[in-house]
Amino acid sequence: MTDIEKKPDRAPVPKEWTYAPAPESRDVVRLQERYGHFIAGEWVEPSDTYATISPASEETLATVGQGTQEDVDRAVAAARDAYANGWSSLPGSERAKYLFRIARILQERSREFAVLESLNGGKPIKESRDVDLPLAAAHFFYYAGWADKLEYAFPNRKPGPVGVAGQIIPWNFPLLMLAWKLAPALACGNTVVLKPAETTPLTALLFCDVLRQAELPPGVVNIVTGDGRTGAALVDHDGVDKIAFTGSTEVGKAIQRRLAGTGKKLTLELGGKAANIVFDDCALDQAVEGIVNGIYFNQGHVCCAGSRLFAQESIYEPLVEKLKRRLETLRVGDPLDKNTDVGAINSKMQLDRITELVEAGKEEGAEIYQPPCRLPEKGYWFVPTVFTNVAQSYRIAQEEIFGPVLSVLTFRTPEEAVEKANNTPYGLSAGVWTEKGSRILWMAQRLRAGVVWANTFNRFDPTSPFGGYKESGFGREGGRHGLEPYLRVEE
Ligand code: NDP
Repeated sequence: MTDIEKKPDRAPVPKEWTYAPAPESRDVVRLQERYGHFIAGEWVEPSDTYATISPASEETLATVGQGTQEDVDRAVAAARDAYANGWSSLPGSERAKYLFRIARILQERSREFAVLESLNGGKPIKESRDVDLPLAAAHFFYYAGWADKLEYAFPNRKPGPVGVAGQIIPWNFPLLMLAWKLAPALACGNTVVLKPAETTPLTALLFCDVLRQAELPPGVVNIVTGDGRTGAALVDHDGVDKIAFTGSTEVGKAIQRRLAGTGKKLTLELGGKAANIVFDDCALDQAVEGIVNGIYFNQGHVCCAGSRLFAQESIYEPLVEKLKRRLETLRVGDPLDKNTDVGAINSKMQLDRITELVEAGKEEGAEIYQPPCRLPEKGYWFVPTVFTNVAQSYRIAQEEIFGPVLSVLTFRTPEEAVEKANNTPYGLSAGVWTEKGSRILWMAQRLRAGVVWANTFNRFDPTSPFGGYKESGFGREGGRHGLEPYLRVEE
C-alpha cells in the first residue's frame, strides 16, 4: 500500500479507475422493419432484399432492398427527368437554399443520425457524434456557399453541370461519404443516383427523410441499396454521365477499365498506406496521441489511416514504450457507450481480412503487441495491435489492412524517411511530427501524398481538398477543387 492509501483520515483512494457504463440511448432512432429504394421522392418496393445487422451484436436491424438492374434503370430515369425539368437550370442561389436547409436539418437531427451510424456501422458514438455528423453538415454548408459563385470559382470558363452522377460509397464513413459526394454534385446542378455500401445502408435511408423535409424536388437525389452488383449496374448504365467512387483499389481499377472509352467522367478515391513520420525533436506525448488517433480512430477503417509509423531511430524505444502504455488505456467495446474508444469491426468479412494479415505479419517475423483486453462475446472485434520489427517488404507494411493494426518501422535521416514513406503503391496521406517548420515544408514537398498533416493527423475540413496519387486514385473532394469533377468548363 502507498502512504496515501494508508492515511486513515483521508477518503479511500481508488486502486483502479474503471469507467461506469455510459450508454447512449437508442430510443431516438425509430427503425422501420423494411426499407425500399428511394426513387423520384417515393419509396419503391424492392423485388429482392437482405438483412442489415449491427456488427457489435449481430442483431438484425432491418431488411433493405437489393437493387436490381430495373431499380437502377428507374433511378437513373428519375434523375435524368429531374435534371432536365428544373434542377440544372435553377439559379445557384436557389439550389443553395436546399443545401443550407439539408445542413440545418442534419444538425437538428444529429443525435438520431449519430446513434444510427454507430448501430449499423460499429463506430464509437463519440466519433459519429463529434466527427461524422458535424463534418457531414459542414460539407452541405460549405458547398451551399459555392452554388451561386461557380462563375467566380472558374472565371471565363462558363461552368455548367455534368448531368446525372452515379455515386458509390463505402462503409467506413457512411453518412460523411454521402455528404462528400452529394453536396458538391447538387451545388453544381447535377442530379444523383447514390448506392450506399451493403453493410451500412441505414443512415443513407434515414437521409431520404431529410431530403423530404427539405422539400428537395423529387428525383434530384435517388438512393438504391444493394451489394456490388447494384454498384456495377450503376457504373455500366448509359444514362449516367459521371461516376464518383470511394472504396477499394481493386474495385476502383475494375471501374476504370469498364469506363475506358465511354466518355463518362470519373473520380476514384481508393486505398492508402499512410506514413506517420516522427522525428526526434517533436513533442513526444503529443505525437503518441496523434499516432493513436491516426490508426485506431474508427477501428482503423480509414483510407488515410496512419498505418505505417516511421520512428527516428534515436527515439524509437521511448516512443514505442509510451505507445504501448497508451494502448493499455484504450477502451474497446460497445459502440454506443460514450466512453468507448474502439468499436466493432464493420463486418465478419473485414474481421477475417484483418486476422489474415495479422497472421501474415507474425509469420513473416514481426513482433506483435496487443494490450490485455476483454472483448464482448458477440459481434466482430479486434484488439488494437502494434507490430514492431517490421521490414518494408512485409505484407503488413505494404497492404492496406483497414483495421486497428499499426506497423512500426525506423529511419535515421529525413531523406531515408521520405524514401521509405514513398515506397508504396499508394499516396493518399502522410503525417510529419517535428518542431521545425522548415523540415515540415521540406518533407511535404517530397512526400507523394495528397494530404500531408503536420503535428496532427486525420484532420478533415470541407474547405480543404482531399484525394490521392498513384493507386490511391485521382480527382479531389473538398474545397474549390471538389467542384471541378461535377462541372463541365470551357478549356
Ligand atoms: P469495395 O471497394 O468492394 O466497396 C466499396 C463500394 O463499392 C461499396 O458500395 C461496394 O458495394 C461497391 N462495389 C463493390 N463491387 C463493385 C463493382 N464491381 N462495381 C461497382 N461498385 C462495387 O470495398 P469492400 O467493402 O469490399 O472492402 C474491401 C477493402 O477495400 C477493405 O479491406 C479496405 O482495404 C478497402 N476499402 C477502402 C476504402 C476507402 O475509403 N479507400 C473504403 C472501403 C474499403 P458492397 O458494399 O456491396 O460491396
